[in-house]
Formats: sequence, C-alpha cells, structure tokens
Amino acid sequence: MGTGTPGKCIIVSAPSGAGKTTIVRYLLGCGLGLDFSISATNRPKRDHEQDGRDYFFITTAEFRQRIGAGAFVEWEEVYPGRYYGTLRAEIERIWANGRAPIFDVDVVGGLRLKEIFGEQALSIFVSPPTIEALEERLLLRGTETAETLRTRMDKAGQELAYSTRYDRILLNDDMQRACEEAHEVVNAFLSA
Ligand code: 5GP
Repeated sequence: MGTGTPGKCIIVSAPSGAGKTTIVRYLLGCGLGLDFSISATNRPKRDHEQDGRDYFFITTAEFRQRIGAGAFVEWEEVYPGRYYGTLRAEIERIWANGRAPIFDVDVVGGLRLKEIFGEQALSIFVSPPTIEALEERLLLRGTETAETLRTRMDKAGQELAYSTRYDRILLNDDMQRACEEAHEVVNAFLSA
C-alpha cells in the first residue's frame, strides 16, 4: 500500500463486456491495498454470483427505501427497471480499514463518483478495441438474451462517447497487457 492511500479510491468504468470486471479482479489480487466496493442492485442474481460478495441483491422496495435513507453516494437506473447504487457504508468501511475502495460502475456512475471525490479518485475507462469485439465478448459470455444484448450494445455506443472525460483510457485489445497497464497506473496513483 502506498503512503498516499488514505481517502483515495479507484473508479473503473466501461461498456458492459469490455473486460472491466476481469481487470478489477486482477487489480484486487495485486496487493495494492484495494477492496472491492460492493454495490446494491435489484437485478436477479446470476448463477455464479454470491450475495454480499458480488452485489447486495435487494428488492426494488428495499432499494427505494435505501435511496430515501441516503444510503447511496450515487445510484442509477442502469437498464430499464434495474437499479444499481454505491453504498456510502462500503466506502467508509474500506477507508476505516486503511484501504482504498475500487468501484466497478457504469460510465455515468463513474463520472458522478469522480465529480464527488475529485483528486482523491483515479477514474479509468476500459475501452474495447471495437464495438464488434464487444458484441462478440457478450455473446461468448452467454449471459444475455437477444433483447438484453441489444440494450447493452445500444448503451455501449453512448458510453464510448464519454471516455474522454476519464483520467485514463485503457485500450483492452490484449487482456494481459491491459491488466498490467492498469496495475502500473493504479500503483502510481496510490503511491503518490
Ligand atoms: P451487471 O448487471 O453486468 O453486473 O452490471 C451492469 C452495469 O452496472 C455495469 O456497467 C456495472 O459496472 C454497473 N454497476 C454496478 N454497480 C453499480 C453502481 O453501484 N452504480 C452504478 N452507477 N453502476 C453500477
């Protein structure tokens, strides 16, 4: 952990399927003093996912109640009827442990977190080499129906336009290289 870690955070955003989750997992295993900030969502849990590890899976009513209670630093309807939110308590828990939260959030949420945390935050945009490569990755992942694939691809086109507002753009044409580059930039930020 760098001496400059207290109060810092890392934001990783990308269109769905750009390899963001792989990069976040890689960074978590690098011994950089990062902890994953577990978001809350009302979307159904996927088979390989665990409540309290990947997300806090809650109902729409619970989500609304938490909005009212001010539990979220930011929250969003990422897809129609699907809510996702960054929990204030997660960030506080991680900072209290002397570690830095890493956020895996959508592009709008990432910009919002950067606005809130300013210089304390490093925002990274993971860019797929092409929009076709993105579609292929989502197909291979096998988690999408024709309809959710279409929704995710439409959203991806809009999201790519926001990339220039991030501190760093990481081109993911080679996963290993992208992971190594992410390690370098995060390490430099946390050590400064
Ligand atoms: P998925 O359903 O594939 O897990 O996530 C869909 C999108 O929601 C991804 O881009 C993911 O990064 C984003 N997301 C996850 N948690 C949050 C959050 O707390 N806030 C925002 N704004 N987006 C989130």
